[in-house]
Amino acid sequence: MAEKLLPFTKDQMEKIIARYPTPFHIYDEKAIRENARAFKKAFSWNEGFKEFFAVKATPNPYLLKILHKEGFGTDCSSLAELVMSEKSGITGEEIMFSSNDTPAAEFIKARELNATINLDDISHIAYLEKYAGLPPLICFRYNPGPLKKGNIIIGHPEEAKYGFTREQLFAGYKICKEKGIKRFGIHIFVASNELDAGYFVETAEILFQIIAEISQQLKIRFEFANLSGGMGIPYRPEQERINLTTMSRGIKDKYEQLIVANGLAPLKIFTECGRYITGPYGYLVSRVLHIKNTYKKFAGLDACMANLMRPALYSAYHHITVMGKENKPHNVLYDVTGSLCENNDKFAIDRALPELMPGDIVAIHDAGAHGFSMGFNYNGKLRSAELLLRDNGEVVQIRRAETVDDYLATLDFKSLVGFPV
Ligand SMILES: *Cc1c(COP(=O)(O)O)cnc(C)c1O
Repeated sequence: MAEKLLPFTKDQMEKIIARYPTPFHIYDEKAIRENARAFKKAFSWNEGFKEFFAVKATPNPYLLKILHKEGFGTDCSSLAELVMSEKSGITGEEIMFSSNDTPAAEFIKARELNATINLDDISHIAYLEKYAGLPPLICFRYNPGPLKKGNIIIGHPEEAKYGFTREQLFAGYKICKEKGIKRFGIHIFVASNELDAGYFVETAEILFQIIAEISQQLKIRFEFANLSGGMGIPYRPEQERINLTTMSRGIKDKYEQLIVANGLAPLKIFTECGRYITGPYGYLVSRVLHIKNTYKKFAGLDACMANLMRPALYSAYHHITVMGKENKPHNVLYDVTGSLCENNDKFAIDRALPELMPGDIVAIHDAGAHGFSMGFNYNGKLRSAELLLRDNGEVVQIRRAETVDDYLATLDFKSLVGFPV
């Protein structure tokens, strides 16, 4: 069971809202730090273990700075994410640049920052060389394709646009070796929001196995194996967290069997988790604007899917707490909606909640990753503020809300005046 508690009381929240109007995202620094430490500790058996926080999950420099203090690097996949990492004081091999369909300008920036470059395709070796020059350290993303063993749980990596095939990996490392590169890493990422610890053990096994084969055949030495992200969180109260101990022990066993036994140690284990690190520790806080009774009961919030699109995009479950009514009977079924002119703009459908009133404060849970960051401006909706609940209970704004002026900033109204129609 994943308990869906809040790190603030209704009274505290009323005070926060008096300063920062709803809707907003708020992150719990203490919980993020504790989780980061537990994650690092789980892998402490591996010398050189490092987590590169997936910036796309929660791209805020204040959070990046906190996570960097906890020993994490960044995983970037675009120019803006590279620049944000740089401005947050994270550069060099503390950046993993794991992109795909990559434009030259992004490779150039990644090289300028001395980031570790993780290539998504064999054709990118020549492309990178042409536009940005080859780096001293190179990593490739492995797509295991129709693996016999992995098929059921891995799904269908052969349908995915990502990564090198097995044959391409051998060919790619050979090319890079011949071009004088001496430092190598390998990466794999085939699942998203996976809660089964065994899944990651199996992924590690696949990666360690191919490391052993390539090392032997090409006589190269791998510095790291990047197991990437995809570790899930229990969005539903009845779900369980990933068992970190089981996962880490399982990976360690495979490491001993396939890496240590083959004389390939030390090999650093890297991860690129986003969701697991911050997901449960961010909340979208909103107020009920209107209650509408037609064929169904609708609770219309002042937030909409532009603030959190996972429910609309994937029919994802996000738990909702009505602040101050936690212990009231949850005996009314509501569709909890936003205000977009899109009927899928719903945070929940047929959700049993306490009787709601306009003005009620709702906290939508597990919005700390892939929440704010997936925001958009459809219907002229403005992105909200992001707040941080600090260790000492203080609340600071770490991103202001967008204004209508922000929304209009890319339009030239001066030229409109004389524009002939
Ligand atoms: C999205 C992504 C991640 C992070 O995924 P989570 O599900 O948030 O852990 C890591 N690496 C790459 C390359 C990604 O695209």
